[in-house]
Amino acid sequence: MTTSSAPSLGIAIDRLGNAVAGPVIRPGDGDYDEHRRIWNGSIDRSPAVIVRCETTGDVQAAVRFAAEHQLLTAVRGGGHSFPGLSTCDGGIVIDLSLMRQIVVDPDNRTARVEAGALLGDVDRATQPYGLGVPAGIVSHTGVAGLTLGGGLGWQQRKYGLTIDNLLSAQIVTAAGDVTTASADENPELFWGLRGGGGNFGVVTSFRFRLNPIGPEVMAGPVFWPMEDSERVLHFYRDWVADCPDETTTIVFQRRLPDRTTVPRELVGKRVVAIAACYTGPVEAGAEALRPLKAFGSPLLDMCEPKPFLIHQSMFDDSYRHGGWYYVKACDIAELGDEVIGTVVEHGERMSSLLSSVAIWQMGGAVSRVGEDDTAFNGRNAGFAFNISGNTESADGFDDERQWARNYWSALSPHHTGAYVNFLMDEGEDRIRHAYGETKHARLKALKRRYDPANLFRLNQNITPD
Ligand SMILES: Cc1cc2nc3c(=O)[nH]c(=O)nc-3n(C[C@H](O)[C@H](O)[C@H](O)COP(=O)(O)OP(=O)(O)OC[C@H]3O[C@@H](n4cnc5c(N)ncnc54)[C@H](O)[C@@H]3O)c2cc1C
Repeated sequence: MTTSSAPSLGIAIDRLGNAVAGPVIRPGDGDYDEHRRIWNGSIDRSPAVIVRCETTGDVQAAVRFAAEHQLLTAVRGGGHSFPGLSTCDGGIVIDLSLMRQIVVDPDNRTARVEAGALLGDVDRATQPYGLGVPAGIVSHTGVAGLTLGGGLGWQQRKYGLTIDNLLSAQIVTAAGDVTTASADENPELFWGLRGGGGNFGVVTSFRFRLNPIGPEVMAGPVFWPMEDSERVLHFYRDWVADCPDETTTIVFQRRLPDRTTVPRELVGKRVVAIAACYTGPVEAGAEALRPLKAFGSPLLDMCEPKPFLIHQSMFDDSYRHGGWYYVKACDIAELGDEVIGTVVEHGERMSSLLSSVAIWQMGGAVSRVGEDDTAFNGRNAGFAFNISGNTESADGFDDERQWARNYWSALSPHHTGAYVNFLMDEGEDRIRHAYGETKHARLKALKRRYDPANLFRLNQNITPD
């Protein structure tokens, strides 16, 4: 795929600007830099045009324009792709960030969410009814990219992944047509959208099932010194083996950030934390999470009753916009002694205040959906690792990235797969491995049907051939 020659493309962009409702931005415009930037500061790309769509019609026009001019095409929801797949050099960005309308139907417990919405938008719209969509743990993440890859979050062991609560999606295909995918309409496309990423078109809206959550929950992290990691992880392994589905936990390794909630003398200290969220009544949560709060001598205990909205934005500052981020991901079946040994050894070697390791507890409702029911792979994973070597800027980034790679490699005898939304730009073999051969072949067949020319290639790409 090539970019069109500059003068004729310029005239065509003028025409596109007249045809769409939303702003069309290009190099030289005052707000170009603001809109070409994405969350990961290590990604610095300069598209030829950014179409800030306001309607499904705008998305259709932008898709047809991209196909006609054979432009490298990026689609942007929340802009949180770790490898920066929602922007490009010299091509078009189809930006949905102005399409954030959410319509909640509390009686039928559903919500229609436009594809530019962020997770916080959905929480704020649904929490007044004591309802929610199970989704991720940082409120400035985009609904679209997260959903299309699967969607891990605090409610996953009770209500499943985000895709397990998806009822239908409206999508603009590579041909520029608008279609709907659900269990009854285009079911194979619906299967592929639930884990297959942005390979099949631009989703313009999602309809989700809502579940009871909050408005108060028993939730939050308990921190111990990194030196106690081995004891903490052995306790954790035994404790979560019998946890009810209402309890979802994540183990974190990091250095304590400079926050008002962190005592000055602890800022910068390497810690291991177990963060939990109980999806149910606060009193039952207090009882279920009692062993966690009682274990050893925590440095800090922030696991307490709080509004779900507060819990959902608790980690926002730790993953702020503009930092330099690099991630390595793997699924692992169980936290055996050898895995724990590796986690302890490599956790102690992290340098940056921004780096983090998150070890997600899977199971529960996630594992009760059939492995072949959706394109998401890894229903039976025990734990999903996100090893993230991050820095404030280019300073020290190479070293921290190498630390993440070393940590991940040391776990390699235990890898069972990887969550596609935690992949960098790692090549087709890694994507095939993440989906498994059978699913990958089924996704390829779907790609041939909906995007034979691979217009939508800036994603964890399923090539059509
Ligand atoms: C700070 C942070 C926290 C995270 N926390 C979680 C978490 O708790 N749980 C979890 O599961 N994941 C989490 N992730 C991973 C996250 O799911 C992915 O990064 C996801 O791709 C982000 O979606 P987005 O819309 O913000 O990204 P974007 O960068 O906008 O898009 C990501 C990919 O999706 C495609 N895409 C975006 N919008 C559309 C659309 N409307 N139609 C078709 N394709 C589209 C893009 O082309 C791109 O390939 C987190 C990521 C970050 C950076």
